[in-house]
Amino acid sequence: MANRILITGAAGFLGSHLCDRFLKEGYEVIGMDNLITGDLKNIEHLMKVQNFEFHHHDITKFVHVAGDLDYILHFASPASPIDYLKIPIQTLKVGSIGTLHCLGLAKEKDARILIASTSEVYGDPLVHPQDEEYYGNVNAIGPRGVYDEAKRFQESITMAYHNFHGLETRIARIFNTYGPRMRLNDGRVIPAFIGQALRGEDITVFGDGSQTRSFCFVDDQVEGIYRLLLSDYSQPVNIGNPDEISILDFAKEIIKLTGTDQKIIFEQLPKDDPMQRQPDITRAKEVLGWEPKVSRAEGMQITYDYFRNLSQTELEKREH
Ligand code: NAD
Ligand code: UDP
Repeated sequence: MANRILITGAAGFLGSHLCDRFLKEGYEVIGMDNLITGDLKNIEHLMKVQNFEFHHHDITKFVHVAGDLDYILHFASPASPIDYLKIPIQTLKVGSIGTLHCLGLAKEKDARILIASTSEVYGDPLVHPQDEEYYGNVNAIGPRGVYDEAKRFQESITMAYHNFHGLETRIARIFNTYGPRMRLNDGRVIPAFIGQALRGEDITVFGDGSQTRSFCFVDDQVEGIYRLLLSDYSQPVNIGNPDEISILDFAKEIIKLTGTDQKIIFEQLPKDDPMQRQPDITRAKEVLGWEPKVSRAEGMQITYDYFRNLSQTELEKREH
């Protein structure tokens, strides 16, 4: 019989790609989502697939799934700063109560669970690059605290279920990931810059643009998650691409890629915006034999083509 996997956040960017991957691997996939930041469009192509079912459900309410479950991928959570600033309480609830429900379900079903943690557990890091031993530098009461602390709690309760109940758990610390199916208006830097280029608007760099990020293409991320889930490793693992770039240089790359002559304008840096971020992926290499394969140039071309080819109606819809 096929393995059965529950994917929370299935209608979101990463969740939808994970649904595709696990279906391709022959799994029976149950996608769950309340559509607060996701879009059914992302999984529309799966609705008639025999091994896929969709449950419209808010996981901060009790989570029930009939029948056996072998795995849970817990990806439900707003992930973009403007989303979690708009819905701070839901963000805290899904990271805490939602995670509790997923862990409880995993325990009941004797399923292995992987949770989507984040590089944000390192906050505005004082160690560079960030390895998994670094405890982080998070402002609990700052605007990003609702996300960062929810994710830190998520890691903590996951380890508690592992240590206390012997539950099989995996923790992925995901670094900035991009690709098709991101929401054009989700405020994250890649859809923001591409959207601006497509609309002929100025490119908005926050601060002086000297802050850095390291962008991972979605296919690489999915491969890392897949390997981590099937590994026997229960400590956190960074999954990201160490190729670091300043946001100003990245804005220049976007202008080149899109062949536009947009101006770069500078806007205020949001509070607690991390100044540098780069994953140390030594552990992922050693434990999972994984490292990213897709260069930023290749990944950005695919992503740009995706946004450019969305029909005008879809573009408008995705700007909801
Ligand atoms: P996304 O917003 O596209 O997807 C999140 C999905 O979760 C959405 O479909 C949303 O509707 C759903 N959701 C939110 N609250 C829910 C609830 N209470 N019940 C049911 N569904 C709910 O974001 P994403 O980029 O795909 O991120 C997915 C996960 O990966 C998140 O947990 C995020 O924290 C984590 N992550 C992502 C990145 C990244 O760069 N994309 C980086 C670090 C961590
Ligand atoms: N950023 C920017 N202009 C934008 C959107 C984002 O300069 O229009 C910056 C933002 O301040 C941050 C970086 O790009 O320094 C990455 O932002 P994103 O929201 O994508 O991810 P995160 O800050 O969560 O890593």
